Amino acid sequence: MEENKIRGFFSRLDRSVFIENEYKKYADIDKPLPIGYEQTISQPTLVLDMTLRLEPDKDCTVLEIGTGSGYQTAFLAEFAHTVYTVEIVPELIKKAEKRLDGLGYRNIRYKTGDGSDGWPEFAPYDRIITTAAAGSMPNELIRQLKPGGRIVAPVGPPGYQDLFVITKDKNGTVDMDPIEKVAFVEMKGKYGWNRE
Ligand code: SAH
Repeated sequence: MEENKIRGFFSRLDRSVFIENEYKKYADIDKPLPIGYEQTISQPTLVLDMTLRLEPDKDCTVLEIGTGSGYQTAFLAEFAHTVYTVEIVPELIKKAEKRLDGLGYRNIRYKTGDGSDGWPEFAPYDRIITTAAAGSMPNELIRQLKPGGRIVAPVGPPGYQDLFVITKDKNGTVDMDPIEKVAFVEMKGKYGWNRE
C-alpha cells in the first residue's frame, strides 16, 4: 500500500540534510525551522500529511510551488513520475537542487520565479501542491490541473489558513474541501497577502 511506503520513507528521510544552519541540530523536532530569507522548512508531520492527501503515484506529474529547502520535493520525487518545482528565492532553489541531486533524484525540473501562475510550459499536471499560503486560490493553478487531478494547498490570511484539497472531476467540475487549519508563510506575488 502506497500509504505505508510513504510513511516508511518519512521515517527514513534524514531532514537534517535539508538544513544547513544553526538549526540543523533541531532537525528531528516536529516543527518548522528557519532556512534563511525569512522562509522555513515545513513541519515534518505536515509534509507527511500533505503528501498522503496528494495521493501521488508513479504515473503522475506534480507541480510544486515553493521548493524551499527541497524537503517536501523529496517526497514528491520519490512517489511521482516527474516533479516540476518553482521557487521565488534563487539561493534557496539552488541549494535544494544540490541536495536533491545528491540524494539521486533525476526526475525533478527546477524553475526560479513567481509560481502564482503555475508553470504553463508543462501543464496540465496530475497533482499540484503549494507550500506557501495564498490569500485566495490561484485560478491559474486550477486551470493547470488535469481532469481527475487533485491540489493540496493552504489558502487564507496571515496567521492561520485552511488546508484545501481541491479535486477536478472528468467533466472539469471543481470541488474545494477545507481539511484543517495550518500556518504557512506567504505565497508572494499577485495572490499574496499584501497586495496594494
Ligand atoms: N516545503 C518547503 C516549504 C518552504 S516555505 C520546505 O519544507 O522547505 C515556502 C517557500 O515558498 C519559500 O521558500 C518561499 O520562498 C516560496 N515562495 C513564496 N512565494 C512563492 C511564489 N509566489 N512562487 C514560488 N515560490 C514561492
